[in-house]
Amino acid sequence: MNYNTLEDKDFINLISTSSDYYVIMFGASWCGPCQIMKPVYDELATSHKYQKLVKFVYLDRDTTRHYNQDYGFEIPTIPRFFLVKFEANGIFSHFNIKISFGGSQSLDSFNQKLDDYFSISNPQKNANTTESPNIDFSEITNTLTNMNTITHKKPTVAIIGSGPSGLTAAIYTARAELETTIYTGLEPGGQLTTTTEIENFPGAWDATTKAGMMGPDLMQLMQKQAEHFGAKSVLTEIRGIEIDDKAETKFTLDIGGKKEKFDAVIIASGASAKYLGIAGEEKFVGKGYHTCATCDGFFYRGKIIAVIGGGDSAMEEANFLTKFAEKVYLIHRREEFRASKIMLERARENPKIEFVLNKAPIDFMGDEEVTGLVLKDSITSQTSELNLDGVFVAIGHIPNTGFVKGQLSMDETGYLIPQAKRPPEERTSHYGTMSEIPGIFIAGDVEDKTYRQAITAAGGGCKAAMDTEKWLADQE
Ligand code: FAD
Ligand code: NAP
Repeated sequence: MNYNTLEDKDFINLISTSSDYYVIMFGASWCGPCQIMKPVYDELATSHKYQKLVKFVYLDRDTTRHYNQDYGFEIPTIPRFFLVKFEANGIFSHFNIKISFGGSQSLDSFNQKLDDYFSISNPQKNANTTESPNIDFSEITNTLTNMNTITHKKPTVAIIGSGPSGLTAAIYTARAELETTIYTGLEPGGQLTTTTEIENFPGAWDATTKAGMMGPDLMQLMQKQAEHFGAKSVLTEIRGIEIDDKAETKFTLDIGGKKEKFDAVIIASGASAKYLGIAGEEKFVGKGYHTCATCDGFFYRGKIIAVIGGGDSAMEEANFLTKFAEKVYLIHRREEFRASKIMLERARENPKIEFVLNKAPIDFMGDEEVTGLVLKDSITSQTSELNLDGVFVAIGHIPNTGFVKGQLSMDETGYLIPQAKRPPEERTSHYGTMSEIPGIFIAGDVEDKTYRQAITAAGGGCKAAMDTEKWLADQE
């Protein structure tokens, strides 16, 4: 075929990116005259005189019935043809329908219609030309049928956060032709930029060296991928969101002195692992000091390590780490635990776990890498040293939700609550990732205290972007 068959999304893409002339044929597989016209149309697409100027496409009438209302294509019968000029200029996109005609056409009658149009719009030009890329169309007259102008502005989406959830969301929204701005926050790339090798992100793995990608490299790739599809990154932190239901553009982001307006917002601001707050901590992150057992436990096969904390996370991580480590000390500052009974019992029954209670870490041992911890007894205040190959801190996470406090509902630990996580009777929308404010969507660790993995965050970003796209389309 010398013409392309377009789907709905391709047509939307044309409106927003093209500044060419197109002949569009609307037909259907069940329509006999359309099937007869298709070879003629195909021949026209190869042999027409305006080869460098006009492109030919085909759209299925059955899947584009709304085009009459949406774009002004009046199609009383099929096949029907339109000569259309797209006018995308990077900000606004519209198109003009220049000629419309229906029924079966011979090659000659088809060419004649194009000749008529181009000679009227540019009388000086010889209609037989095969090269007319610089035609001045200012003389286009209104005598032609169906003059119609539809103006479309691309909907705008702000993505707050540039971790796996934010960047995945950006890839999806940008590919869906939404004007996408990523506000990276102060940790561009998110939590994974604070770690070394990522071994559990599917596909980000070298089959030759059998090694995963480094966290910062993986995040840089995600960012490049999002930017390739048109997303724009802005290195700044969002301070707040103003909402005006009556305004044409509902959301205004506070970017520290500057304000930007958006049609929809995806919050993907993640959660930060709580750190102990003792001296030297930053220097040891990734060098024997970790916040994620699933991520880094594998590196401690046959080693002696410690988990700090007394909640479910600490129990879970300690149990998990016994798969690799020879011995796991569970260090907790009290004798009572926040952990659930079942999790606590499971840890207690594990022969590789030894509980060290009423002890709080006050210092690291080691120069370049952690070699142990200095502990202080909470009752006697005595200090002691414990030699270790690695330390995993599991004392909770803090979701980065301060900038929407009081605006969006959160659980008792500050995690946002998308519709899908609310009891059915409290849901106000069928969009699972939407907050209680229509147009604000939520993705990744900022709403997920259970899984907290790069791949689950990326999956959340994908879902939020798809919900955003559908919700925006519903608003039109
Ligand atoms: P984050 O990655 O937390 O990103 C949040 C983003 O929001 C950041 O860019 C931040 O700058 C931005 N932000 C925050 N507040 C604002 C604001 N007000 N305005 C604008 N932007 C803001 N998972 C794995 O699957 N495999 C691993 O090997 C692995 N290793 C890990 C190692 C470490 C040391 C840590 C800490 C985590 C690890 N994880 C791992 C977990 C994984 O990193 C997270 O689950 C994932 O990054 C969550 O992605 P996210 O996009 O939801 O949030
Ligand atoms: P958590 O329940 O808040 O427990 C944090 C633990 O860290 C507490 O024992 C706390 O000690 C200790 N801690 C806090 N700050 C410390 C510090 N500076 N130094 C030393 N210790 C410190 O957090 P979590 O374990 O991450 O659990 C969070 C939520 O996720 C909980 O609701 C939990 O049930 C849930 N979760 C569930 C599962 C599961 O069901 N499989 C797994 C993980 C988490 P104190 O007790 O003395 O304050």
